[in-house]
Parts: sequence; structure tokens; C-alpha cells
Amino acid sequence: MTTTEENTKRIFEIKKQLGEDMLILAHHYQRDEIIQFADAVGDSLKLAQIAEKNKRAKYIVFCGVHFMAETADILTEDWQKVLLPALDAGCPMADMADRAQAEICWDIITKEFGESIVPITYINSKAEVKAFVGLHDGTTVTSGNAKKVLSWGLGYKDRVLFLPDQNLGRNTAVELGIPVEHMALYDPHKQSLEYSCPKEDVKMILWDGFCCLHNDITTDHVEKARAAVPDAKVIVHPECRHEIVKISDGSGSTEYLIKAVKAGESGSKWVVGTESNLVERIKRENPDKSVYLLDPHSICKNMNKTNTANLLDTLEGILKGDFSKQIVVDRETAENSIKSLNTMLSLS
Ligand code: SF4
Repeated sequence: MTTTEENTKRIFEIKKQLGEDMLILAHHYQRDEIIQFADAVGDSLKLAQIAEKNKRAKYIVFCGVHFMAETADILTEDWQKVLLPALDAGCPMADMADRAQAEICWDIITKEFGESIVPITYINSKAEVKAFVGLHDGTTVTSGNAKKVLSWGLGYKDRVLFLPDQNLGRNTAVELGIPVEHMALYDPHKQSLEYSCPKEDVKMILWDGFCCLHNDITTDHVEKARAAVPDAKVIVHPECRHEIVKISDGSGSTEYLIKAVKAGESGSKWVVGTESNLVERIKRENPDKSVYLLDPHSICKNMNKTNTANLLDTLEGILKGDFSKQIVVDRETAENSIKSLNTMLSLS
């Protein structure tokens, strides 16, 4: 038996032993060797909702990246422990904004636009950024509810500060009919705010952050895919740059991408622009269709850090009372960020 096989066998044994005391959640971008243990698989929104509703599990093992485990800890009860098997699995996009930078930005943009702004942060952000947003009456957002949440924001105030993913902000705002020219860009390193339209026309202030994986998808990838498979539909995640979304046949959250292919006719062809583990799974789950990955380099190193070895280590730790992999958000941060998460959940 290989080590992976031994680990797999032992993980299933512990899972059976702990029963409903333990809940294993896995993001869609996790490897298959992890997905097989999951009690639930989903995108950030679905997993956040499941974590919030579960009032039985003492241990929630989050197979994903750091901000997801933080969100689960904020939404669960104090007696529930959230554990992250790969403690070094961060998210480069979430790391592009912290609370101190957000406070500086707020000073600059409120000097420019007064009280007319509501902040909205992508769920792919640090808890301290969610707390900043909660303190300023804003909300969290995911790619699955972005249109609804942004519409709420633009109904509440004249303009929105959208962080940290400029691509999701821009793509969603365009879908709502806001011209790209009416969007400003805030650079947290230069502490600079740039826009080219009259000040009163600015509707979106986009934080200069992005997901490296989706941002790296280029028009060249789309052109090559169209040349190679001319009758395929190209669908992409809205973390891709706007020029990619514009030339694709459809764009939406992870759940949208899964459902679009599933609903396609037998024999249809799909080129999917998002993370590779997910696209490989979509391919296997739709054997009657042809599914291709848009960019072969769409691999999230951080999502791939969870493996059977560190998952088993986490589970053995639970049995021994060793919770060194627990993610705990401090009370003040949790109390403020829960405001932003609750606003989103009530809108979803
Ligand atoms: S795919 Fe992008 S947004 Fe998701 S965890 Fe990886 S770096 Fe972060």
C-alpha cells in the first residue's frame, strides 16, 4: 500500500469514528484526493452558508485557503473549532489588502467624495478587511451573488469601494450598465486614486488587486482556443480581466461554470477559464461533452497545498486534543466582520 493509500484508509477510519462531531468542507479547487472525504464541496458562498448552519460539528476541517477558514470561524459558534490542514495555504489576492491600507484608502477617498461611498469586499479577503467593511456599514460579496450585492451597494450610496479584486468589481459593474470610464482605480502602494471622468460620474472605486491565476488568462488563450475548437463555447470566471470576459460566451461563478456545462447538450464543446482541478472534475462529470481548460497554467498553488498527509495530521490531532491547526479570529475583528457577512447572507 502506498503512503497516500494508507493515509486515505486512516482518514476514512477517523471520519467514521468522529461521525457528526466533525464536518469536512472542501472548496471546488481542491484536488480529488481531498474531495473524496468532503461532507460538502462548494464555492466560498456555499461553504460559508453550510458552516453557518451547522450547529452539530465540534470540529470543522476546512480544505481550502486561510481566508475561508477565517470566514467559517467568524460564522460558527465559539465551541466549534475550525481547522486548516495546510496552515501556509494563503490567497495572494486576499493578501493584496489589509486593514491599515484600507483605512488609508478610506481617508483619501472620503476626502475626495465625502460620505457617498459604501465599501464592499470580496469574500476572498482577510478577516480584518471584512471588519473594516463592517465598521463602515458595507458588505461582503462572492462571485455567486456579485450582481445582487453590488446593486444593493449602488442603491445605498452613490459609489462603491470594491476590494480587493478589481476584475470582479469591474465585470459586475459593467453587467449592471456602468461604463468602464466611470470607474476609478485605487493603488494601495502608491496611495493614488485615478479616474478620467468628471468626479460626480465615478460610481466604482476599484482596489488594484487580482487573482494571479485568473488575471494571467489572456486574449491570446481565447483566440487559440477558438482556433483549435471553433464550435466550443468559451466560459470564464469573473476574476478574469474584463477584456477576457468581453470576448467569452459567458462568465460567472464556479457554480455557474459547473451548471453551464452540465446543462449543455450532449456532444457540446466547452472551453473553461478557471482553476484546473475544477475543470478536470467538470470534464470527468460530463463524459458526453468535450471540456477543455482555457489556460494550462491555471493552477492555484495554495489550493493544492492540502494533501492526505496534512489532512490526516489534522484529524489525528483532533483525536489527541492537539488543535495547533485551529484558525481563530479575534473577537473585535469577528464582531465587525460578521456585520459585513450577515448583510451579504441576507441578500443571498
Ligand atoms: S485561485 Fe486565486 S483567488 Fe482563489 S485562492 Fe487561488 S489565488 Fe486566491
